[in-house]
Amino acid sequence: MAEFDVDLFVIGGGSGGVRAARIAANYGAKVMVAEEYRMGGTCVIRGCVPKKLFVIGSHVHQEIEDAAGFGWSIGQVSFDWATLVANKDKEIARLEGAYTSNVEKSGARIVKTRAVLENAHTLRLATGEKITAKYILIATGGAPNHGPQVPGIEHVISSNEAFHLKELPKRIVIQGGGYIALEFAGIFAGYGSDVTVVYRGDNILRGFDEDVRKHVRAEMEKRGITIITGCTVAKVDKHGKDFTTHLSSGSSIASDQVMFAIGRHPNVANLGLETAGVAINPANGGIQVDGWSKTSVDNIYAVGDVTHRTNLTPVAIREGHAFADTVFGKRPVQVDHATIPTAVFSQPEVGTVGLTEEEARAQFSHVDIYKTDFRPIKATMSGRDTRVLMKLVVDGSSDRVLGCHIVGDCAAEITQAIAIAVKMKATKADFDATVALHPTASEELVTMRTPTARHVRQAAE
Ligand code: FAD
Ligand code: NDP
Repeated sequence: MAEFDVDLFVIGGGSGGVRAARIAANYGAKVMVAEEYRMGGTCVIRGCVPKKLFVIGSHVHQEIEDAAGFGWSIGQVSFDWATLVANKDKEIARLEGAYTSNVEKSGARIVKTRAVLENAHTLRLATGEKITAKYILIATGGAPNHGPQVPGIEHVISSNEAFHLKELPKRIVIQGGGYIALEFAGIFAGYGSDVTVVYRGDNILRGFDEDVRKHVRAEMEKRGITIITGCTVAKVDKHGKDFTTHLSSGSSIASDQVMFAIGRHPNVANLGLETAGVAINPANGGIQVDGWSKTSVDNIYAVGDVTHRTNLTPVAIREGHAFADTVFGKRPVQVDHATIPTAVFSQPEVGTVGLTEEEARAQFSHVDIYKTDFRPIKATMSGRDTRVLMKLVVDGSSDRVLGCHIVGDCAAEITQAIAIAVKMKATKADFDATVALHPTASEELVTMRTPTARHVRQAAE
């Protein structure tokens, strides 16, 4: 009789868990996956995918406005929020089915229930069943922070609820200045809501390149989004269907919805981590792991948002795959967390890979900046007041391109391709040797010849 019921028990059927389960099963392991909500996890059910569908739809209004300059005259247009939500739900249900069948086809078994650790080799399911496993992978993801318990916090929605609103809010207040706040600000504004973003710092997108932060803010404001910085939401009052949001500055805003997008925390609560001896990383509250995604317990691993390293889907997938290769495929793989490209699907979009100017200047003694800020060709005919930002951060000593930052249409798509060059340690000379593709916006990345700024640190600095 086998010593354990399964070779691998995966807690969480999201990006990281699903990939690990499928690859381990492909290697011949007996695998069980527990999912307490819906297969596919945050990315598929209430993250990347439904968000991108909402973003795509929200561009249409602007496209219609821009069409006039190209001779189109489009009559009365109307938009139906309920249709958008219903069609999005249909697509998400289809994807959930595809995730389920792909896992099952690999030979892994799905149990649709919550699972917690009883000890280092035993799982307890919400059904009462106990399963023993040789290895356990914790891939429970994260959840929205509710933030400080301000009066009226019970009226505030997170991104989870934003995907299922019955009506498009005519006016919405969104607290936060990161990915989700800015993406939803663009979504709601695109569909016609009056959007106010409230952010506690001096400018949105802390951690991004300073030029990117300024550019995105200016462009969002041009599109009619109000951005209030330097304050927080202090209280939310509800009167019938309306809300009044009181700010720490003393002013207040009337709206139909109030949303917080103030970060996410790893799903570690009540998982039985203590009883199994799994340690938490005191620096970030996620599960502590080493370079192999191994926790403080030898047979227990953790991947994805629950480790609070880089909370992005492709990273969770890589970590899950690397775990399965290492433990079941006898192919030890560590995930390289350096130079991960990322995009904020705000409007305009941000695409970024590598170091910001500020990070490069802290790490390198000679940094050259190549920056351009121009009116995209489409705007010349549409008449839209908008500009694109493209910026390269270069190590002046080795000529290596350290970072690339783009704000404008297709920034995410361009960045995915440019990330290959940056990851391969391409030099500015390699960029210069590449013939431009004309007429595109991204040709600027291979045609900027003269640094717009040069930062050389003196020996004493
Ligand atoms: P998840 O995908 O969260 O999966 C964890 C799963 O575990 C969940 O299904 C949960 O129900 C289940 N679970 C939890 N506890 C238990 C338990 N005890 N028992 C059983 N099941 C359990 N990333 C990008 O790269 N690009 C984007 O554009 C992007 N957009 C996003 C937009 C939004 C609104 C949000 C919220 C996130 C977005 N992300 C994006 C981040 C991305 O969704 C996450 O990084 C990714 O889903 C993490 O995968 P994971 O496997 O770690 O966890
Ligand atoms: P972010 O970390 O991106 O942004 C959180 C924002 O909330 C920051 O502006 C932060 O301010 C602010 N904040 C934090 N705490 C408080 C507080 N107590 N009061 C007021 N403001 C506060 O988190 P998100 O929730 O936007 O997204 C979570 C993660 O999900 C992202 O970091 C990313 O990893 C992932 N994601 C990725 C996407 C993509 O790839 N396109 C899209 C959506 C999510 P400050 O900067 O001052 O700390």
